[in-house]
Amino acid sequence: MSNSAVALDSARHSHNKDILFFEREMLEKALHDKSISNMFMDSLAKNEFKVYYQPKVDLRTNTLCGCEALSRWYAQRLITPAEFIPILEQEGTIKNLDFYVLETVCKNIREWLDKGIEPVLISTNFSKLHLSDEHFEEHILSVLKKYDVSPKYLELELTELSDYQYFERLVRFVNTMQSAGFKISIDDFGTGYSALGYLSYIPVDVIKLDKSLVDAYLTEGQDHFISNLIALVHDLGKTVIVEGVETDDQVRRLAEFRADVIQGYYFSKPLLPNEVICFAATPSG
Ligand code: C2E
Ligand code: CA
Ligand code: CA
Repeated sequence: MSNSAVALDSARHSHNKDILFFEREMLEKALHDKSISNMFMDSLAKNEFKVYYQPKVDLRTNTLCGCEALSRWYAQRLITPAEFIPILEQEGTIKNLDFYVLETVCKNIREWLDKGIEPVLISTNFSKLHLSDEHFEEHILSVLKKYDVSPKYLELELTELSDYQYFERLVRFVNTMQSAGFKISIDDFGTGYSALGYLSYIPVDVIKLDKSLVDAYLTEGQDHFISNLIALVHDLGKTVIVEGVETDDQVRRLAEFRADVIQGYYFSKPLLPNEVICFAATPSG
């Protein structure tokens, strides 16, 4: 009975199978997911999550122009976001993590400002689950207020919504936060069911092109797709950030296509807060 309950649960999360039989791996995955979700709130309270910053580089000037805050979970071992984010999304506890990251970022910005360091724009990720909360905007503003941090230092990254369930809510969120002084970006553009029309309806500032597009199209004979996409986003008056850039050849092509900003291992992996200050202080070559 308990094995069939595990199979039933797997079936609920599988969208392409009508009939499904129990397999040992389903049980292992169910136990693993359960242990992650059981550990999560406790780990958060014990500060086992660390915030890393991945530099973003302005392609025209070759200088640091921003950083993305990314979480790392150090329990007895390092648990990667790929392993825990989908589980927290499913449970809804991702919302707690997002606010923990925002709070840590604001704390770091306050420390930098107190030391006389002018921080670059820092972006943080927010799950679309927050959009069902009518107090989402207020909650963000209250965290900034607590640390006396201006919204001008923050960019809020939201993944594109392929379902239009929250479309009006998303537009309301974007308008409110932009008027408050935040920059807003659409993350992972090019994954899932990206609708091009979407780009023109939502008044965001930045479009982040996903690594999967870079890998698939930023090569000889294929790259006109990326160059046209960059031109289209520019026509709409938005900034293009390209993610997951790793090679010289990719940087050269993106510079030719006038992409604005690059984020990827080519420049830097995500770094600890004190390493980011070093990165900013070193003149770029
Ligand atoms: P993302 O927002 O698209 O973040 C970029 C991911 O790509 C990061 O993985 C980063 O380390 C990785 N990356 C950056 N440049 C390169 C590159 O050149 N090559 C390769 N192979 N990878 C690169 P990470 O940190 O493992 O995060 C994975 C995803 O987990 C993030 O994707 C984001 O969707 C999610 N995530 C991480 N932290 C948070 C968080 O605090 N809140 C929420 N809601 N999501 C988070
Ligand atoms: Ca992101
Ligand atoms: Ca992304």
